[in-house]
Amino acid sequence: MTDAPFDPHSLPPLREVIARFGLDARKALGQNFLLDLNLTGRIARAAGPLDGVTVVEVGPGPGGLTRALLATPARAVIAVERDHRFVEALQDVVAAAAGRLAIVEADALTVDPVDLAPAPRAVVANLPYNVATPLLIGWLRRIADFDSLTLMFQKEVADRLVAKPGSKAYGRLSVITQWRAEAKVLFNLPAAAFTPPPKVASSVVRFTPRRAPEPADWTAMETVTAAAFGQRRKMLRQSLRALGDAEALLAATGIPPTARAEEVDVAGFAALARLWGEKSRDI
Ligand code: SAM
Repeated sequence: MTDAPFDPHSLPPLREVIARFGLDARKALGQNFLLDLNLTGRIARAAGPLDGVTVVEVGPGPGGLTRALLATPARAVIAVERDHRFVEALQDVVAAAAGRLAIVEADALTVDPVDLAPAPRAVVANLPYNVATPLLIGWLRRIADFDSLTLMFQKEVADRLVAKPGSKAYGRLSVITQWRAEAKVLFNLPAAAFTPPPKVASSVVRFTPRRAPEPADWTAMETVTAAAFGQRRKMLRQSLRALGDAEALLAATGIPPTARAEEVDVAGFAALARLWGEKSRDI
């Protein structure tokens, strides 16, 4: 006998759950909820294939995306929520999920999904916007430990994540992201899709680990991109001065000293980071 698949509609409607538990949205915790199960189903499907994968969800809130993830063939869902009110409200979903859902009450910035979930693992989340970027950076550092990350960001942040050299949105976040991962915007959602609606539109972005990232040390890459984009209008021979002999560094990597940060691709930054790393070890 096989278990019946989890039916997201078998539980009370999300609006009813919110009213019953008094779950008013708190701005400080980035609480903008998705209450349309068709939309959360779309996100869960976009995160696939999840067969046999343990999914870590950050910020389940009232549980719309959590229910949709449980309706996929994912092995289990481990949801990390900081707001205790939701931990209580989600207990009905835990019961209906027959051992496939665990709620961890914690600040996601302090927990490592690798400690929570066995491989193969993925992260799927409608992220709280105030901590979305630091969370992403932490996961990119160890992206090889994940099958994929499927995450909702403010559209403006998503545009920066996937921006190419030469564009206005191209910056440090684009370089670090595309160095470690293939990043793709899957679809956008208008502000009106959320309750309460935020001020801006959102995008779902999927990240998969880059198979052979340009070799470079993480700290060196952060240092070089911070110096370069910290003064993005200046030529690199000026902006990289803080790192030592900028002219020599640029000459050795073949990047014109008159180039600006936004003209250098990921491979160029990795070459700068490698060389700067070697030089700073020699000192
Ligand atoms: N997943 C739900 C949905 O799509 O309707 C809620 C998404 S809402 C944008 C963000 C959720 O993250 C909220 O439930 C909020 O309480 C939670 N949250 C905010 N900061 C957090 C943190 N540092 N760690 C874990 N959860 C957090």
